[in-house]
Amino acid sequence: MEKIKMTTPLVEMDGDEMTRILWAMIKEQLILPFVDLKTEYYDLGLLHRNETEDRVTVEAANATRRLGVAVKCATITPNKQRMEEYPQLTQMWKSPNGTIRSILDGTVFRAPILIDSIHPVVKNWKKPITIARHAYGDVYKSVDLYTTEPGECLLTFRGRSGAEQTVSVQKVDGPAVWQGQHNKESSIRSFARSCFQYAIDTRQDLWFSTKDTIAKVYDGEFKRVFEEEFENYKAAFEKLGITYFYTLIDDAVARVIRSEGGFIWACKNYDGDVMSDMVSTAFGSLAMMTSVLVAPDGTTEYEAAHGTVTKHYYKHLKGEKTSTNPMATIFAWTGALRKRGQLDGLTDLENFAGQLEGACFDTLNQGTMTKDLVGLVDEGVSARAVTSEAFIAAIRENLEKRL
Ligand code: NAD
Repeated sequence: MEKIKMTTPLVEMDGDEMTRILWAMIKEQLILPFVDLKTEYYDLGLLHRNETEDRVTVEAANATRRLGVAVKCATITPNKQRMEEYPQLTQMWKSPNGTIRSILDGTVFRAPILIDSIHPVVKNWKKPITIARHAYGDVYKSVDLYTTEPGECLLTFRGRSGAEQTVSVQKVDGPAVWQGQHNKESSIRSFARSCFQYAIDTRQDLWFSTKDTIAKVYDGEFKRVFEEEFENYKAAFEKLGITYFYTLIDDAVARVIRSEGGFIWACKNYDGDVMSDMVSTAFGSLAMMTSVLVAPDGTTEYEAAHGTVTKHYYKHLKGEKTSTNPMATIFAWTGALRKRGQLDGLTDLENFAGQLEGACFDTLNQGTMTKDLVGLVDEGVSARAVTSEAFIAAIRENLEKRL
């Protein structure tokens, strides 16, 4: 069989631990035998980031801007414990995802992979709910203050011109806590553009919610910028028959629970943080969550939402077989290959992505799955847990049947 051709390379970002092992298996078994794979390879494994003083992460992000589509393996974000585990680290390097996100100025979209035999906890959810989380500012870039005596807290903005604006936050008669938050119009605008663009790319309705009845100026600005930006996308939305609507977060929560799914829910930073955990738990497993970073210009990076699955890696190092779920990582690859196919007009490549996803579903529907899923399937469904190798081999068999 002749291999499927590619014209533009994907940016491939390799990673760490168990997901790095899966990465190699997925390429070897499910992609290289079928696709004449073209990638620009960047090793974002922790030790290579250390050797390059993290330049490799910046280079990978810049390559993504240049080429338009990337696929990324999960990576370790070092913390104190990792500094002890890897004494050769010269610095506690920043999160690669954070670095890439800020270079691409992108928004993260997380969506679950649904299968027939696992039903979401919310029984009317039939289609995936994609959460778009604004990734800049608010409480994540806030300053806190604790005070002990009676007094008044003032909030002052000093412009470069020297002009000042001041408001009284509150007068208090005893100990109190305070917090200063901000967001930037430019960041809100990028967030809005990424959301509208992704809704168009995936042909889904877009919902956006804040609490602008309470935070009239702050959240009101989010609402205003979204409305303003929507004017630029309105025609494309109408053409595709999709809608954008804004509602209060309380109303959004009620509607989401009563919905069938199948839309994008854009949330401010904190709301997105909390709601994406709620939605992913209700849909089943973290191992089945995909994550896509979309820049306002449409540049896209695909990955799994989960981390490097450290516990399984240490078992693997001891020579034990693990049953780590490769689904979200496989779907990162199919997402990237499909997007590359669409951009380059390569129908065969696009189709291949669909067939590989189909082969994954065939395998799961046959009851062959990893251990994490066996515990989640509906009563009465017969399912057997297999190792990652056996799971990937079964997918390969199904893929060959389909091609
Ligand atoms: P993790 O996602 O690796 O694991 C969390 C839990 O979910 C574990 O109990 C694990 O067993 C289970 N799990 C996750 N994915 C699974 C899969 N594919 N199959 C079976 N079970 C799965 O997160 P963690 O343990 O908090 O972090 C481990 C490392 O991953 C850390 O060093 C962290 O910095 C990194 N991390 C990276 C990313 C990323 O690159 N996007 C995201 C999160 C965490």
